[in-house]
Amino acid sequence: MVQFVADVMVGKLARWLRVLGFDVAYSNTFEDDEIIRIGDSENRIILTRDVPLAARRAWPRSLLIESVNYKEQVRQVLRTFQLTEFNVFSRCLECNTPLDRVDKEAVFEKVAPFIYLTHDRFAMCPSCGRVYWRGTHAEKMLARIEMLR
Ligand SMILES: [Zn+2]
Repeated sequence: MVQFVADVMVGKLARWLRVLGFDVAYSNTFEDDEIIRIGDSENRIILTRDVPLAARRAWPRSLLIESVNYKEQVRQVLRTFQLTEFNVFSRCLECNTPLDRVDKEAVFEKVAPFIYLTHDRFAMCPSCGRVYWRGTHAEKMLARIEMLR
C-alpha cells in the first residue's frame, strides 16, 4: 500500500486522503528537511506544491501537486497512483492512526447523549482517543468522495 507525507500547503488534501483510508504523515509544522527525512526513512511519497521541494526527490519519490483546489488535488493523487480501492473512515483524521471498532458502551461517556442514542457504530483512535461515528457529517463526506471519483 502506498504511503504519503504531505507538506504544510496541502493539509486539506492530507485530510481527505485519510478519510479514504490512506496513510498520510502530516503536520502543519513540518519543514522541508523533515519531510525529506520522513519520506526517506518511512518510504513515503512526498506530496507538495513546492517546486524546489519536489525537485529534491524526483518522481516517483515525490509528486508535485498542480492545483490549489483540494478536489483537483485528490483527483490528481488518485489518478497518478491509480488508487481505486478505499477503506473509508478507517483512520484517525487528526493523527493518522488506524481506528479500532469499539462497543457502543465503551463510548458512553465520550460522546454527547444525542449522538449515543442515535448511532450504533463507533470507532475510536487508540492514539489520541478521538471517537468517530457514522453520522450526517460522515454521510456528507462520503457523498463528496463519490463526486471525486
Ligand atoms: Zn487520533
